[in-house]
Amino acid sequence: VADGMGGMAAGHVASRLAVDAMASLDVPIDNEHQMDALHKALEAANGRIAEQVSADSALQGMGTTMTAVIFSADRAALAHVGDSRAYLLRDGRLNQLTKDDTYVQMLVDQGLLRPEEAAGHPRRAVVTQALQGEPVSPSYVIVEPQAGDRWLLCSDGLTTVVPPERIEEVLLSGAEPQECCERLVELALEAGGPDNITVI
Ligand code: CA
Repeated sequence: VADGMGGMAAGHVASRLAVDAMASLDVPIDNEHQMDALHKALEAANGRIAEQVSADSALQGMGTTMTAVIFSADRAALAHVGDSRAYLLRDGRLNQLTKDDTYVQMLVDQGLLRPEEAAGHPRRAVVTQALQGEPVSPSYVIVEPQAGDRWLLCSDGLTTVVPPERIEEVLLSGAEPQECCERLVELALEAGGPDNITVI
């Protein structure tokens, strides 16, 4: 998931550049090279964004989130920067694998804001890190997949309006992945859907 940000159409340019860079990972990759491959692709994405911005000052400030998982052999590796999210449903429970790179998450981490207050906070859209052509510190997670796991990758267009309990219910319903995605988008739209909504 690459959720573009920054004035006019530039967010779209940044997310497209990032997705194109990540597409190089759609090949068999050994377990031990997963993280390195993700890291290199993120660096490449960031480098291409930097190039475009320096070539066209109108693109200044554009950026994109990136939450990506590669599955190969018996492992999955996740890379994350920004406020999109990855969840793993396992043993009947929804686990959030990523931490938002946002101002409100920082307040929550510092104990200045309760987690349940974060979604309604007026500054919830302030992202502290994204691919913007500047140095970033993505986070990485390795997961050993198990039979029955369900993964969800989504933009904040879902999570700012649909609480995790509702997301868990939908994933637990046993519906096919496509049906779950459609249901989650519907729930976000019913809740006002103020932002673009990406659900995988
Ligand atoms: Ca968004």
